[in-house]
Amino acid sequence: MSYRVGSGVDFHKLAEGRELWIGGVKIPHHKGAIGHSDADVLLHAICDALLGAASLGDIGDHFPDTDSAYKNIDSKILLRKTIDLIKKRGYSIVNIDTTLCLQAPKIKPYTGQMQKVIAAIAEITEKDISIKATTTEQLGFVGREEGLMAYATVLLKKFEV
Ligand SMILES: [Zn+2]
Repeated sequence: MSYRVGSGVDFHKLAEGRELWIGGVKIPHHKGAIGHSDADVLLHAICDALLGAASLGDIGDHFPDTDSAYKNIDSKILLRKTIDLIKKRGYSIVNIDTTLCLQAPKIKPYTGQMQKVIAAIAEITEKDISIKATTTEQLGFVGREEGLMAYATVLLKKFEV
């Protein structure tokens, strides 16, 4: 058995009148994230961590924002495609750990739902997905509610023959 660790980080701007999708869940809020896709910062960080662990480049290589096929796409589809890529190379996910940085709204009420959504796509159990959230104590672009960011770390395993 061999193991590979990967990390990912993603940022999006926030704007009035956009939908806020985080971890595959739509969160009621007066602001939402701006992006070419549905701008799901958490799923994008997870995709990058998965690709990084398998040394497969980054999310921009696989799903370029210049490609109209990905305009407003549901990021759950991107996560599904990313997981297919790593599975084709013989990897499976051991666990996913994430941290979301945003000032508002409170994310805790939604993390269970996010775990369910991600677990179903990744075909792992909810307890193998950790979603932590923090504010930045009003500091910086996150604190001013101009944007949000997410970090993800994943561990992959592969049976060696
Ligand atoms: Zn993104």
